[in-house]
Amino acid sequence: MTALFLAIIVLSLLLLAYYRIPLLISIAILAGLTFAFTELRHFYPIPGWFRWSFGIITLSLAGFALKPLRRLLISNRLFGLFRKVMPRLSSTEREALEAGTVWWDAELFSGKPRWRRLLRQPKPGISAREQEFIDGPVEELCLMLDDWEICDEHQDLPEFAWKYIRENGFFSMIIPQKYGGLEFSAQANSAVVMKLASRNLTAAVTVMVPNSLGPGELLMHYGTEEQKNHYLPRLASGEEIPCFALTSPLAGSDAGAMPDKGIVCKDEFEGEQVLGLRLTWNKRYITLAPVATLLGLAFRAFDPDGLLGEKKDLGISCALIPTATPGVEIGSRHMPIGAVFMNGPTRGKDVFIPMDWVIGGQERLGQGWRMLMQSLAAGRAISLPSLGVAGGKMASMLTGAYARIRTQFDVPIGFFGGVEEPLARIGGRTYRMDAARVLTLIALDQGEKPGVLSAINKYQLTEGNRQCIIDAMDVHGGKGIIQGPNNYLSHFYQALPISITVEGANILTRSMIIFGQGAIRAHPCLLKEMNAVSGIANTQARRDFDNALFVHIGFTISNTVRSLLLGLTGGRMAPAPLRGPHAKYFRQLSRMSAAFAFMADAVLLLLGGKFKFKEKLSGRLADILIHLYLASALLKRFEDDGRPDGDLPLLVWGMDDSLYRIQKGLRGVIMNFPVPVLGWFVRLIVFPFGRPYSEPSDKTVKAIAKLLINDSESRDRLIDGVFISDRDDATGRVNKAFHLVLAAGPAERAIKNALKESVNFENYEGLVKRATESGVITEEQATMVRLAQRASASVIAVDEFPREQAKRSADSNGNANETEKNIETRSEYEQASASE
Ligand SMILES: Cc1cc2nc3c(=O)[nH]c(=O)nc-3n(C[C@H](O)[C@H](O)[C@H](O)COP(=O)(O)OP(=O)(O)OC[C@H]3O[C@@H](n4cnc5c(N)ncnc54)[C@H](O)[C@@H]3O)c2cc1C
Repeated sequence: MTALFLAIIVLSLLLLAYYRIPLLISIAILAGLTFAFTELRHFYPIPGWFRWSFGIITLSLAGFALKPLRRLLISNRLFGLFRKVMPRLSSTEREALEAGTVWWDAELFSGKPRWRRLLRQPKPGISAREQEFIDGPVEELCLMLDDWEICDEHQDLPEFAWKYIRENGFFSMIIPQKYGGLEFSAQANSAVVMKLASRNLTAAVTVMVPNSLGPGELLMHYGTEEQKNHYLPRLASGEEIPCFALTSPLAGSDAGAMPDKGIVCKDEFEGEQVLGLRLTWNKRYITLAPVATLLGLAFRAFDPDGLLGEKKDLGISCALIPTATPGVEIGSRHMPIGAVFMNGPTRGKDVFIPMDWVIGGQERLGQGWRMLMQSLAAGRAISLPSLGVAGGKMASMLTGAYARIRTQFDVPIGFFGGVEEPLARIGGRTYRMDAARVLTLIALDQGEKPGVLSAINKYQLTEGNRQCIIDAMDVHGGKGIIQGPNNYLSHFYQALPISITVEGANILTRSMIIFGQGAIRAHPCLLKEMNAVSGIANTQARRDFDNALFVHIGFTISNTVRSLLLGLTGGRMAPAPLRGPHAKYFRQLSRMSAAFAFMADAVLLLLGGKFKFKEKLSGRLADILIHLYLASALLKRFEDDGRPDGDLPLLVWGMDDSLYRIQKGLRGVIMNFPVPVLGWFVRLIVFPFGRPYSEPSDKTVKAIAKLLINDSESRDRLIDGVFISDRDDATGRVNKAFHLVLAAGPAERAIKNALKESVNFENYEGLVKRATESGVITEEQATMVRLAQRASASVIAVDEFPREQAKRSADSNGNANETEKNIETRSEYEQASASE
């Protein structure tokens, strides 16, 4: 009986915490129970200690509800301690944090995501006008582009492609129609970049840069009316080519530390003495700089002579400078690997610009970092993620097709278990990447600027692309390695590090930004607590701190209880918002979200401000948040697509893989917990019965491989949005051969069964003749087999070059000079070594 009464007490408290019943309602419920049990004692033998315990707990909670009392006893005492241990934010960190908004990430941080809210978000879609552009000018531009010619022969887009891009508004997708721009939604912007990237990365990067973080975006949000009216129509018409220069040799990832400066001064401009800035900069890696007519420049502004007021260091600022301005140095090129978009350095020394060239005018001096971070919070979710998904879709399309076309040991290689694994990874990843891309765009199109989710997308979709392309290369074997117009993978492969590095290099994004910013931004209380303790310690600050702290305590207790109960019940306690084959995944994600929120709080509480320097822990927590988000996106996509049966393996692969990675991340944090003994306790709460998730099963892997090497609606949905060539070019030949091979399959099997020999592109003429003569196949089938074998041969072929031509091409790339230089250096080195 004692155990039963104890269990009633514990269970009541656990359920109140699990369901997050607000404090006052909890007190009312407990008071009601105390009263009820007191009355029931007349009918049942309810022990006095039980009733007293209920009463004491109710009164203690009531004490917490009395704010003056709890401030006196608890929060005022903790206020000083928190002031010491809470992380201090630099001004650039604070501005980055305050930029953008939180969206579904806040739900994941809450430990109790409201799934219906996610499912109620609009379905993705683009307007008829946008679709027309994609089917018209984008398709047209894709047809103009020859990847090999651009990258390996001209090392630039052809002049007619440049002209077409400028004249058809490709640079104006984000510019409002009233300025002559296309004013596309984020979904459409992404769809354009994705389709172009599937054809040629150089064209995609050239188009995406003016539509991403740069002069257009900054002007629209922060420019003066005069600046907008002057520049936006010129940018929209392609008359101006913009670039944006932030990175310096000294300041890469730590861009805020740029040494480039502008000194406020007066000087002569167009015959008049005006207030302005004398700029000195040295920037590198700037995309479009070699051909830009308008340079967006980030620099730190100083006012040593106090022309604007007391403040000497005004902070990071942005200006727009016509590149024809005397002293502006542009023109020379860097040569990024795998793509030949324009990229180069820009420099200037003591270049005077009038104050009205500062974006937003004088009043926006010093606001540059905030402006950039705001723009990045949205832009980072569009361009590079679209590029990444394009790579995944192309890898799915081409590798699936190639694995069906290429046979070894008389079997299409896609039928081998070993090849099924990379095929499944390619398909599964692509489906998940695309789901995340689209979900984040839904947020953007509703006006959100989800900084943390954008960072997740940038990191995961570029990294996912890298994994897809590497797997694609492995499946292609030698075909992927030999360069030439027939190789449709080499540029994707070579260019991989570009998107990994730009707009926040991936290592930094994972280990510093995603959880570091996410924890502060998306956590329901942390930023409020930090704000309260970081300012002046007055009464209001203490009150704010008290409010945030007690919400935080309730939140942590609830997440601890939720983690434990969901762990004990294998997630079954969490409700799923719908029925179906995927309902169980909602429950598992709710369980993992609670575990994540609990774990994140535990780590932050133990480490305080030191957390900033624990990047390995932060990276693991980021992995958990990332996969909670990717898995949410998968569920939303599956619902939005109408739960197609054929897509189920893709969903299952993504969900199983994400849950497994979440588990890996949690385990990694537990194994490296700041206080090892507590790690053991945390493990007990999160995984009371051990680790529940495993990698995708062989059955799922097989199903996806099958999906990729066959024609189906699911395959079409997976690769939807890329340029599908039907021409006699590298990818067009693969598409054609794929369909022919599938169509010829029954006839080839009939030949093999009858003549006991497999058909291949060297023996097919003889076999087809014999099979037709003996009535094994019809004439029509014979034609199909011939066409399929010829098409296969053209896909399997790789390029050969006469030795002389190969040498000429190396010379024209400037490699010959390089070689001579190397020889010189080598002989100098050899001489030096000899004299030593
Ligand atoms: C092709 C190309 C195009 C570009 N276009 C532009 C452009 O148009 N405009 C522009 O302004 N810039 C541009 N950039 C610059 C780009 O944004 C930078 O390259 C990027 O910010 C990284 O800087 P970095 O290359 O100097 O690397 P570094 O900052 O030297 O970083 C090297 C490595 O250290 C890691 N790292 C650094 N700090 C940390 C940390 N605290 N924690 C963990 N890891 C860390 C990084 O993740 C990276 O892996 C471009 C770069 C390239 C290559």
